[in-house]
Amino acid sequence: MSQKKPLCKCGKPAVIFRKYEGSYLCKVHFLQSVERKVKKNIRIHNLVKPGDKIGIGVSGGKDSMVTLYLMHKILSPRRDIEIVSISLDEGIRGYRESSLKYAKELCRKLGIRHYVYSFRKEFGKTLDQKVRQVKKSGKECGIEVSCTLCGVARRYLLNKKSRELKLTKLCTGHNLDDESQAVLMNYIRGDLYRASRMGPEPIVRNGKFIGRIKPLRIIPEKEVALYAILSGLKYHNKECPYRCGLRLEVRDFVNKLEEKHSGIKFSILETFDRILPSLRSQMEKEIGELYYCKKCGEPSSKEICKTCELWR
Ligand code: SF4
Ligand SMILES: [Zn+2]
Ligand SMILES: [Zn+2]
Repeated sequence: MSQKKPLCKCGKPAVIFRKYEGSYLCKVHFLQSVERKVKKNIRIHNLVKPGDKIGIGVSGGKDSMVTLYLMHKILSPRRDIEIVSISLDEGIRGYRESSLKYAKELCRKLGIRHYVYSFRKEFGKTLDQKVRQVKKSGKECGIEVSCTLCGVARRYLLNKKSRELKLTKLCTGHNLDDESQAVLMNYIRGDLYRASRMGPEPIVRNGKFIGRIKPLRIIPEKEVALYAILSGLKYHNKECPYRCGLRLEVRDFVNKLEEKHSGIKFSILETFDRILPSLRSQMEKEIGELYYCKKCGEPSSKEICKTCELWR
């Protein structure tokens, strides 16, 4: 006996079962639902305002490509908002070159101005070279050397270049999985300062700091991938060769929990958002004013910023 295929409420075959909602959705209703959720996220958190010039960080992976595509779809009819895209070339051989091709291609197709900045040009070294140098010297600089070096430099460069481009906001492709993992990672590492800078709305504690927005923050990673495929978006599907350690363990842990207890990723994030205001005010008391780095002049929680400490 052939098994009946699950159907959407409209009667068409379902492309996805959302266990956390108990609903089957066909292609059309799935795409519409994701777009509706993203629009609602933008609206309730006031992520976009008239006069904004928004820079979308694009790596060529599914999350950033969907973000670029959706932000363009939602915002291009508005004359009072400008969108550009920014990519970073960290210098990861055999990985970044191919992902940037996808990013360039989509920007060209959508007619969005695309800026690319490289670690080599900015810091005089690629990430590959820097990781080799640090490992050789035996100096460790965090739980995962490569991701620490990369993350610090990426945040620095994105902020600096966004300011130079006179952007009012920087938009990234973080999805629900990234965010729920980040909540746990910050907790495990005891990095409450970084945790206090997460959240659904952009924070500006320093005139030189460009606020971040994450429109896909409430969309599970699997749905972002499905959205990309069903919308015909071509994206880079490889994982960064440096991805390792704690982040992967936390990812597997959260995925296992989600399998058994559907909706747990939402619950991790929603609980975090509820305690965020208290965490922020506590961090402001503990850290006080943000400094400007004595070496480079960029915003920093210490006298010398992490980028200058690690890269210069
Ligand atoms: S996985 Fe680590 S090294 Fe690779 S791009 Fe992300 S932060 Fe950088
Ligand atoms: Zn349907
Ligand atoms: Zn500095």
